[in-house]
Amino acid sequence: MTATTAHVDDAVRRAAAAFPAWSRTTPAERAAALLGLADLVEAHAEDLAQLDSAEVGKPITAAREEVPGVVDNLRFLAGAARVPATGASGTFAPGRRSTLVREPLGVVGLITPWNYPLLEAVWKVGPALAAGNTAVLKPSELTPGSSLRLAELAAQVLPRDVLQVVLGDGEVGQALVAHPLVRLVSFTGSTEAGSAVAATAARDVTRVHLELGGNAPVVVCADADLDDAVATLVPAGYLNAGQDCTAACRVLVDDAVHDAFLDAYAAAVRRLRVGDPADERTDLGPLVSEAHLARVTGFVDRALADGAEAVVGGHRLERPGWFFAPTVLTGVAADAEVVRREVFGPVVTVQRAAGDDALLAAANDVEQGLAASVWTTSLRRAEAFSAGLDFGTVWVNDHLTTVSEMPFGGFGASGYGAELSTRSVDDYSRVKHVMTRA
Ligand code: NAD
Repeated sequence: MTATTAHVDDAVRRAAAAFPAWSRTTPAERAAALLGLADLVEAHAEDLAQLDSAEVGKPITAAREEVPGVVDNLRFLAGAARVPATGASGTFAPGRRSTLVREPLGVVGLITPWNYPLLEAVWKVGPALAAGNTAVLKPSELTPGSSLRLAELAAQVLPRDVLQVVLGDGEVGQALVAHPLVRLVSFTGSTEAGSAVAATAARDVTRVHLELGGNAPVVVCADADLDDAVATLVPAGYLNAGQDCTAACRVLVDDAVHDAFLDAYAAAVRRLRVGDPADERTDLGPLVSEAHLARVTGFVDRALADGAEAVVGGHRLERPGWFFAPTVLTGVAADAEVVRREVFGPVVTVQRAAGDDALLAAANDVEQGLAASVWTTSLRRAEAFSAGLDFGTVWVNDHLTTVSEMPFGGFGASGYGAELSTRSVDDYSRVKHVMTRA
């Protein structure tokens, strides 16, 4: 079912009507609601995991592993709702007292992608409600199930109309963004759609929060612990069939260890088990849709035609379903399409570079700036790369891990704004300066 413009209008107006009462609740009351929602999500974990596994095609084990993190996000945000806005109050002009007040914005529109449907919904719904906003959530048209289930659960702990869901594609998303009563749009998805969201939002000077595409570089230095790197980077490259905005997809290896790394990495990729997402032994399921399979196949076909070598995979799998083989490409030029654009599939490029300066330059030589990792046993190198990498998250000897306490967001074409952490609550709020003259 797809919402019409009238449905979107109705949902936004209901959310606007629910705003005054919800915005006047105390942080403790909102925290209690979020804790209640966390308990309900925990109690319905299997149901939610099954919905995401069936709709995305992700292995059921991976879908199950996402739920505890989501529950933790909600519990953290319940606490964060009660933490005052940063910034001190005080006297800065004679006889006047300044106070900072964090206020909710009003109705916020939340637009999510298909790769982590439940997680993405919670990353937005949690801080939006913690800050005292009411929300209209539009999940991806491909994966609405867990968002609808989340809203049903939320209805048990929230006042009526505080959280609503509208279904549909980008057109419905645009109707939400263009609605004059929407005060902030928080969008996660592709850079192209994010740019269209920002353009529409600009007409009414509506705030935007954009979490866009990634293309994460992985820098493997000459002194890296290669066993550790391979053991982490293979799951980090192929989790969710590589349909992850932070997937470890662009591996850059120092010449000195390139061949040893590539051998071990390719051997581990060959051991990945592709299969039915419902089977607990499966590491990789199919891609989300036939259109996405065609997109990924196109990237790889063009790379091979341009002279790349598929050390592993390089083709779709001859079996029913939208399966693409786990693929490792070498022999790709720095300016190759497959390096510069986000493939968003089980496709990893491995490139070589001579020394730290060349590795850092290659890592930063893309427009996206979401996440990166560096692999080294030298503290000095770790510090230098952390400072030099132009990405919103930099992992040292790790990849993919996120925590509720720390912000997650991109630079450059990957957007702006923070998910997670107390900063996300600030992002869904406005700050008022009240100056009182005694
Ligand atoms: P997408 O941009 O096609 O769609 C994302 C959402 O936006 C969907 O709900 C879709 O219906 C809606 N939409 C599409 N066009 C729109 C428009 N013009 N106006 C308003 N809404 C519109 O992205 P996708 O294919 O669902 O997801 C994959 C993309 O999401 C990848 O680029 C990935 O990197 C990105 N992503 C980013 C993060 C992050 O945190 N930065 C996390 C997950 C996914």
